[in-house]
Amino acid sequence: MNIHEYQAKAVLREFGLPVSRGVAVLAASEAEAAARELGGPVWVVKSQIHAGGRGKGTFQDAPAGAKGGVRVSRSVEEVVQNAREMLGATLVTVQTGPSGRQVNRLYIEEGAQIAAEFYLSMLVDRESGGVAFVVSTEGGMDIEAVAHDTPEKIHTVPVDPATGLMPHHGRAIAKALGLTGPQAKQAEALAAGLYRAFLAKDMSLLEINPLVLTGEGRLVCLDAKMAFDANALYRHPDVLGLRDESEEDAKEIEASKHDLAYIALEGTIGCMVNGAGLAMATLDIIKLYGEEPANFLDVGGGASEEKVTAAFKIITADPNVKGILVNIFGGIMKCDVIARGVIAAVKAVGLAVPLVVRLEGTNVEEGKAIIRGSGLNVIPADDLDDAAQKIVAAVKGA
Ligand code: GDP
Ligand code: MN
Repeated sequence: MNIHEYQAKAVLREFGLPVSRGVAVLAASEAEAAARELGGPVWVVKSQIHAGGRGKGTFQDAPAGAKGGVRVSRSVEEVVQNAREMLGATLVTVQTGPSGRQVNRLYIEEGAQIAAEFYLSMLVDRESGGVAFVVSTEGGMDIEAVAHDTPEKIHTVPVDPATGLMPHHGRAIAKALGLTGPQAKQAEALAAGLYRAFLAKDMSLLEINPLVLTGEGRLVCLDAKMAFDANALYRHPDVLGLRDESEEDAKEIEASKHDLAYIALEGTIGCMVNGAGLAMATLDIIKLYGEEPANFLDVGGGASEEKVTAAFKIITADPNVKGILVNIFGGIMKCDVIARGVIAAVKAVGLAVPLVVRLEGTNVEEGKAIIRGSGLNVIPADDLDDAAQKIVAAVKGA
């Protein structure tokens, strides 16, 4: 689960970490009050959307040369003017895709004087089996480009979970950033605080880009992207309270209510599968035969008829879906339950696109008989290969 920058900074502040003062606002009038409260003389007006690259982003229908989604402002009037232009407008960045995201909230922050910009992130690193810091002196820019062009400028500092963060980790981070003396000490304290916050809140990712050295020689987290492990949210009601559903895919929200593992994709073939491995194989084979999947959907091992119906409704509600492939291996899950769920869903929402059903495993004959007897226009398939070819042919023919 992702949160907004202003929320992430509040979490950092909770752990005593250095962030600038700021106020989140929903209207230009609030922006004026916030600017006066912060006092200036420099402010930064920052679009709050769940996507990065805001600074270099562009607003839809803005005149050529117009400024991006992060704007340094030098008077209260300029803050208000920027707020007026940005609120309600659609910001397009490299991370939003071409349709962009509507900006509904701004973060008005006191401006920092930047002497140097660094990159610092933390993630759950599969290679080392723990949390790792990734740092670079090349902050404030596209870190993917840095990793591609000058990989030697990116330093990874893994932390052994058995020892936790040790002083040497902090020293390694400070050294990688080229910091010495009091700044190195600040970097070490920062690393310790970030590590504490990361574990305490069960984060899956924390990216600070840029981490800056100010004119007064202070390290400050100027941007913050924070993501949390969804499997640990049950023990963090405070974090769950930060969820902004307007930033998430409506189909994914609906799916999460039914405890379905669903991820929206860009293609045309809707998939209903049980088991993550089989779901991945299904996506692969659809691509192999030349089409693209519209979603990843794992209905899970013990899905009920209601859950299958909900899954089917989510798939058919997607206007990109030109065909549906149901691919179930009944182990714990029984084929007749799937068959009944599919039929109940089709009766409830109708079927406007071709549907291929491949069932295998427990109660398979009963499941197939239910589908056959339903009178619905279902294309039966015998195995995964057959099913993929049939749905691709049906979609291409349509
Ligand atoms: P992003 O583009 O979505 O990653 O948004 P950031 O929060 O990283 O802001 C983009 C850029 O705006 C930063 O890399 C900085 O160069 C600049 N910026 C952000 N805050 C300040 C500030 O307080 N003072 C100055 N001078 N520049 C800032
Ligand atoms: Mn940034």
